[in-house]
Amino acid sequence: MAIALVTGASRGIGKATALQMAREGYTVAVNYHHNIKAATDVINQIVEAGGKAFAVRADISDEAQVLAMFDSLDREGEPLRALVNNAGILFEQSTIENLSAERINRVLATNVTGYFLCCREAVKRMSFKHGGKGGAIVNVSSAASRLGAPGEYVDYAASKGAVDSLTTGLSLEVAAQGIRVNCVRPGLIYTDIHASGGEPGRVDRVKSLLPMQRGGQPEEVAQAIVWLLSEKASYVTGSFIELAGGK
Ligand code: NAD
Repeated sequence: MAIALVTGASRGIGKATALQMAREGYTVAVNYHHNIKAATDVINQIVEAGGKAFAVRADISDEAQVLAMFDSLDREGEPLRALVNNAGILFEQSTIENLSAERINRVLATNVTGYFLCCREAVKRMSFKHGGKGGAIVNVSSAASRLGAPGEYVDYAASKGAVDSLTTGLSLEVAAQGIRVNCVRPGLIYTDIHASGGEPGRVDRVKSLLPMQRGGQPEEVAQAIVWLLSEKASYVTGSFIELAGGK
């Protein structure tokens, strides 16, 4: 069988994706940052449903930890065939006047550098050029990359713009090496990412602006990711799926 690495898989969209990838028959590498208990719960759910999974700790913004994580995948004895770059951070709402350099750097380190590092290590293992058997990558961007986030999270929106450009550029670079690279752009999805700050009632206010008049569930994003990684999407690369309720 083959390994699918899902970053930030202990909760939210990453967790929903890990559970669905296991159902597709992948051995799922459940990346987590701090919460080993939450990661273990995901693994237990997968194993109880008859699937295979293991935990891999790494802060994706730290190169040494990313290298160690991929080394540990190499020791599993199955090829890496899928990567979901999902782990991301969002700080509280802020206008640009109040954005500190420290915050900007932290957002870019996780949401951009972290995605680059994981793509780089995955390509080294999947590419025909390096003796790999090919594979597929899905980057989790955000509707904010298209819509901006005025007065709210312009740092986050810009980081996701970089994810979009990474997807386009890398998809072209590795298309002939057997690797497809695609992107999903979720809108308002009900996860804990919205727990960190934001004015009271923000989620309801944003929801009311959506054509579908509701937020999405993590599972609805996971379905699109799983499809993009599957053979059903074998001729799809450099593509973007909007999961934003019509926005
Ligand atoms: P979440 O906060 O529930 O999950 C994010 C996960 O990433 C957490 O498990 C966290 O521990 C992990 N993580 C954060 N920094 C990390 C690091 N440096 N190394 C390893 N893991 C790290 O949020 P979510 O909503 O499930 O977000 C998943 C992805 O979806 C993110 O990239 C986010 O930007 C994107 N997204 C979410 C929404 C939404 O409304 N929920 C909308 C658009 C895009």
